[in-house]
Amino acid sequence: MYEKTIAQLSAGLASGQFSSEELTRVFLERIERSNPQLNAFITVTAESALAQAQAADQRRQRGEAGPLTGIPIAHKDIFCTNGVRTSCGSQMLDRFIAPYDATVVERLNTAGAVMLGKTNMDEFAMGSSNETSYYGPVRNPWDLNAVPGGSSGGSAAAIAARLTPGATGTDTGGSIRQPAALCGITGIKPTYGRVSRWGMIAYASSLDQGGPMARTAEDCALLLTAIAGFDPRDSTCVDQPVPDYAAALNRPLAGLKIGLPKEYFGTGLDNTVAAVIETAVTEYRKLGAETVEISLPNSQLAIPAYYVVAPAECSSNLARFDGVRYGHRCDNPKDLLDLYTRSRAEGFGAEVQRRILVGTFALSAGYYDAYYLKAQQIRRLISDDFRRAFDQVDVIAGPTSPTVAFNLGEKVDDPITMYLSDIYTIAVNLAGLPSLSLPAGFVGQRPVGLQLIGNYFAEERLLSVAHRYQQVTDWHNRVPAAFA
Ligand code: GLN
Repeated sequence: MYEKTIAQLSAGLASGQFSSEELTRVFLERIERSNPQLNAFITVTAESALAQAQAADQRRQRGEAGPLTGIPIAHKDIFCTNGVRTSCGSQMLDRFIAPYDATVVERLNTAGAVMLGKTNMDEFAMGSSNETSYYGPVRNPWDLNAVPGGSSGGSAAAIAARLTPGATGTDTGGSIRQPAALCGITGIKPTYGRVSRWGMIAYASSLDQGGPMARTAEDCALLLTAIAGFDPRDSTCVDQPVPDYAAALNRPLAGLKIGLPKEYFGTGLDNTVAAVIETAVTEYRKLGAETVEISLPNSQLAIPAYYVVAPAECSSNLARFDGVRYGHRCDNPKDLLDLYTRSRAEGFGAEVQRRILVGTFALSAGYYDAYYLKAQQIRRLISDDFRRAFDQVDVIAGPTSPTVAFNLGEKVDDPITMYLSDIYTIAVNLAGLPSLSLPAGFVGQRPVGLQLIGNYFAEERLLSVAHRYQQVTDWHNRVPAAFA
């Protein structure tokens, strides 16, 4: 059962081939066996998963099942889950038991999905390798010496190793797409405002967006249909009807115009990755799409602008973790200042502290205009680049990441090199656009992801463009040998 996609599992449950309880036990056993090696889960909720599975089976008997009823999934540990530890990968929240469910969690519960547990992640979603987690790094199922990407690396690794058929992730600068690429799975970052951020622990509020990760675009469509849509509790959530994403998957590709940004194929892109991406683009031409070279001239400004805006917002969002209102509290503080400073020094790891310092600096009087305001102006230029591109083309394609998965420890002491992992993903967040990564081949044993970027609210289109490719390729069906 574990080798099946969500769509296949849903059909199996509907025809009575197996029950949700049987299915849930299969995945719980796989987690028990492989998690010590992969470290993809921070918390496993076996008992409540079985209770949810039994409830799903009863609901099915009453004839009230939907496509996700009884399907096991996992949540990135950034989503609040009522009564379950929600650590955000940080010592700061190691003992935080959320008193409510995030909207995304609530909606999947309502759909009847079964939560297997909470997945590992970079601390407060800051990272590209999962190495900043307080709970230790996640390993890439394709090669245990490699990183799974980040920050949603636990979700990506768990799906690739078939420990869960689907999971949630969040993407502030690439955290759904880059780990999806490095682990050989599919993940979509929706348009900013498409999915509610309520109950999703904030990193950089103007960039953060939750979304689904799974083996295929079809599975992502099923999950996105359940989690998207207006939520009055998130004032940036857009009140626009949610299509049935799974219904539109078979749209033909004939006449589709794909833009290839020349900035995404230049220096910095590994040659072996470039070759895989070119083969994937050729496949799209065979399917009837037309490709056009385009330019996104301000691409090289995306990383510097992001590393002002995101730290600025994080320095404000993370102010609440002071040992009084939220989070870890140090022992025996001698006064109030000692309580604040020591609690934060002990509770936050090095990367989080670095970003709080950078962000506080960028927002301080005298520097605000020079850094924060400038970064916001660049953000506008980047959005304008995309707006002009979408006057010419329907979707934009390119690599998700400039390299395949790198080795554990390789970049962890060099933040600038690590930040470059997101060179092709970050501009999308600055513009608020939707974007998807799907498996397109391998370099040696390590997967390569193809990135597709769409115009605002073009999730339907992105998912169908990915789905057509997955009907004629089988990269998404490959299983890492050690987990077959
Ligand atoms: N890797 C980027 C960072 O470190 C993006 C992270 C994310 O999307 N949450 O900030």
